[in-house]
Amino acid sequence: MILIQGAHVFAPEDQGIQDVLIGGGKILKIGRQLPVQESYGVTCIDGRGKYLFPGFIDGHVHILGGGGEGGYKTRTPEIMLTDIIKGGVTTVVGCLGTDGTTRTMTNLIAKARGLEEEGITAWIYTGSYQVPVRTLTGTIMDDLILIDKVIGTGEVALSDHRSSQPTVDEFKRIAGDTRVGGILSGKAGIVNIHLGDGKRKLSYLKEVLEQTEILPENLLPTHINRSTALMEEGISYAKDYRGYIDLTTSSDPDYLEPDEVKASTGLKMALDAKVPVSQITFSSDGQGSLPIFDEDGKFAGLGVGKVTSLYREMKDAVIQEGVPLSDALRVITENPARLLKLPGKGQIREGADGDLVLADSESLEIDTVLAKGKRMISKGEILVKGTFE
Ligand code: ZN
Repeated sequence: MILIQGAHVFAPEDQGIQDVLIGGGKILKIGRQLPVQESYGVTCIDGRGKYLFPGFIDGHVHILGGGGEGGYKTRTPEIMLTDIIKGGVTTVVGCLGTDGTTRTMTNLIAKARGLEEEGITAWIYTGSYQVPVRTLTGTIMDDLILIDKVIGTGEVALSDHRSSQPTVDEFKRIAGDTRVGGILSGKAGIVNIHLGDGKRKLSYLKEVLEQTEILPENLLPTHINRSTALMEEGISYAKDYRGYIDLTTSSDPDYLEPDEVKASTGLKMALDAKVPVSQITFSSDGQGSLPIFDEDGKFAGLGVGKVTSLYREMKDAVIQEGVPLSDALRVITENPARLLKLPGKGQIREGADGDLVLADSESLEIDTVLAKGKRMISKGEILVKGTFE
């Protein structure tokens, strides 16, 4: 068992100074000055001067790698365990992207299982950008009902030149089948939607919500912050349709596209516009390909999006944008856990999974990461590495 003593707990709501006891992979007890029973072999961690957060959830990661849009040599490599845990992320949802041919569902499910064996929690979406959706079993509903790891469909591309350009009716069927598959399997049944920079923006989602019985929580559009115009439309979608919006964190803040909105800035914009924080999530789009620019701003090659950007943008929201810490935390903990229906995730409470991040209360630097009750990082040092690292 592990006892974290005297940490300032954000669960994500502020719970003040608490001790947290972890055992059997779960949070067993939270309280002030819990007794230390050395005879039970408790390892104590000094949490004084530190914040304790729920482990972070990254709901959109190309765990197998992505890219390939500049030819075969631009396919990005698979993610490694430490790429995930050093950003405090203890839960990922893996997805395919543009390429649903050389990246396959069988490969995706094996990678997710591998990450689980290495110590974190991983789920997946069925499909890729492509429509009809390429599933594992033949249908979206069967994938959701029969395959434990599948929680929804995605990332289906809309308003993008790389989309299959489905009709609105085809998109409605995807959303409907995903919803019913979710109902029958007790999962989220959510469609993760890649939005490009096309002029149709969120029009398909609005049509689904206007013309069908599908609910806003069955749709999660991502990359909302790719332009100011899309960000603004996302804000009105959230307010007028009670829709959920996901902001992408992995762009290099020094080289944003001219009109791109940094995720932390986008969060501030949405909160200022009175979007309830519960309708906003962040994800990294990690391990996808990212253009790199030289000092003169010229294209210099391709890099790989980082999962660590998730926590960076949360910190920037607090430090640079003045968003309250609990609200900023919600977009990477409680909100994705609730929307994606991830049991035991996203909160510090008794009975929840032992996924925790201890960070310095001044610098917010990550000190310790626990996943399913096991120490992965301690005092900034990585204790558990991936099999081939
Ligand atoms: Zn995407």
